[in-house]
Amino acid sequence: MPSELPETIDPMRLAKTGKELSGSYDLHQLLRVNALLGADPDGQVSFRLKFFRDDESRLFCIIGRLEAMLPLVCQRCLQPMQHQLGGIVNMAIVSDEAEAESLPAQFEPYIESGLPVKLQDFVEDELLLAMPLVSLHEEKACPAADNPTENKSGRERIAKVNPFAELKNLKLRK
Ligand SMILES: [Zn+2]
Repeated sequence: MPSELPETIDPMRLAKTGKELSGSYDLHQLLRVNALLGADPDGQVSFRLKFFRDDESRLFCIIGRLEAMLPLVCQRCLQPMQHQLGGIVNMAIVSDEAEAESLPAQFEPYIESGLPVKLQDFVEDELLLAMPLVSLHEEKACPAADNPTENKSGRERIAKVNPFAELKNLKLRK
C-alpha cells in the first residue's frame, strides 16, 4: 500500500488526469467519527478511490470503497459491539446544485469548490455517511433480543427500540 498520500487533493484535477489513491487513516485521527463511537478505536479506515472521466456519461467521477471495523454500542442491549463497515463511493463531480439535480440516479453529487480538499476530511465525510443510523447486534448474539428471562428494564429497552426492528436487517447487510 503506498504510504505517501497527499495532504490535500483537487478532485477535478485528479479526475482529469485519471488517478487512483489508496491508503488508510487511524480512526483516532478522525475526530468527528470518534464522537460517534462507543469506545476508543484502535483500528483504521482503509480506502481506495479512483478519479476518472467516464467515457459514456462524460462525467468526472470518483468511485471507490472504504472499510473499517468500528466499536459501536448496540442500541438494544447497550453493550459494545464491533461493526464491520463497508462503504461505497460513487460520485460525480459537479459545479453547482443545478448540475447536481440533473445527475443520473446512481451518482452522488460532489460539488466542486475549486479549493483543495483535505484527503483525510474527504475520507472521514464518506465514513460518516456510511455509518449505520442504528447499530444492533445480530439477534442471536444480543443479550437483550427476545429473551423471555430478560428483566423488566431489559424489556422496556426492547419496547423502545422496536420501531427500528425493520431497519436492523437493512443496516446489517454489508
Ligand atoms: Zn445487543
